[in-house]
Amino acid sequence: MTVLKSSRLPLVEDRNIDGAGFPAGMVFSGDQNLPISACARITSAGRVLYDGLVPVKTSKKNQRTVLVAKNLSPLSWLVHGFSTRLGGSSCVYHKGDLNLGFTKDDSRAVVERNRSTFLGEIGASDVPGRSREARKKTSFPWPLVTLRQIHSDIIHRIDALPGAELAGDGLLTATPELLVAIQTADCFPIILVDVKRRAVGVFHAGWRGTAKRVVEKGVGEMFRHFGSRPRDLRAAIGPGIQSCCYEVGEEVRTNFESQFEYANELFREVKESDPVRERYPLLFLTACAPGHGELPVKIFLDIAEANRRQLLAAGLPAKNIEISTLCTKCNNDLLFSHRAEKGRTGRQMAVAGIRE
Ligand SMILES: [Zn+2]
Repeated sequence: MTVLKSSRLPLVEDRNIDGAGFPAGMVFSGDQNLPISACARITSAGRVLYDGLVPVKTSKKNQRTVLVAKNLSPLSWLVHGFSTRLGGSSCVYHKGDLNLGFTKDDSRAVVERNRSTFLGEIGASDVPGRSREARKKTSFPWPLVTLRQIHSDIIHRIDALPGAELAGDGLLTATPELLVAIQTADCFPIILVDVKRRAVGVFHAGWRGTAKRVVEKGVGEMFRHFGSRPRDLRAAIGPGIQSCCYEVGEEVRTNFESQFEYANELFREVKESDPVRERYPLLFLTACAPGHGELPVKIFLDIAEANRRQLLAAGLPAKNIEISTLCTKCNNDLLFSHRAEKGRTGRQMAVAGIRE
């Protein structure tokens, strides 16, 4: 690992980061009218605080890069991290990918190696010896628990490695040295941490899980299992497909409108410009006056904001919630994106665990 000395890195090189005409170094926040400029900071070798746009072109393009949440990194008893695709051994999607999911394209042995690399990187390994030599010989990753994710609101509390793979979209634990993980490639990974009772939860939130309030329910489950009070919880919403790119169908909006009173704040509409219509308005003549036919409208959903609203509704103070502004589709050279790669891609992982 190379230690980058600079505390501030240049933003992306001067190019269109998402093909939609936004200038380099700008990312969309929840408010689509307010592109915010953000800056990633290197905290230690290969670790990047994720409250901003991570440089996708560093001097070492394939350097291992782990994203850590600013509000979680001061907790010395906590191990956590959001992986990126950089610095792995997979070759099936892009050479040097850190694919952490057992996808049908990638070899199991390679994914195992990538997982071990990532877990070592975030410090989720037993390290009996203190010397560098001892660490090299004896370190091995803690047990890692993943789910067969099914876009549900099913949440499991685990105290040991389960005998068989569980199906669901949330995992909770208060057991030290047991890692809980979510795998994504556009959906949002969310980590919840009880700073008082030392318990953690991870959640998988695509639009379906969000509509089922998986994270809101997760706050309730943490209270039920560990007595967690919302004011003691910190949340980190990791990188996913942001509202700049997440186009959805009308049925998704209808679904949200039927159950969230703030649903209209989660969607934005963009009128599709249509050069053919503009050139030949008479062809599109309807009952309206010439040239006044309705243009098709594209609808974009802000899943990160939807989950923030659920965390607020569950009682978390706003200051306890951190959201990555990284869009997986806009930053496809840093992160896996199901949409950008048309379904054939790897998986990044969000992991949380407790040190003894
Ligand atoms: Zn985007």
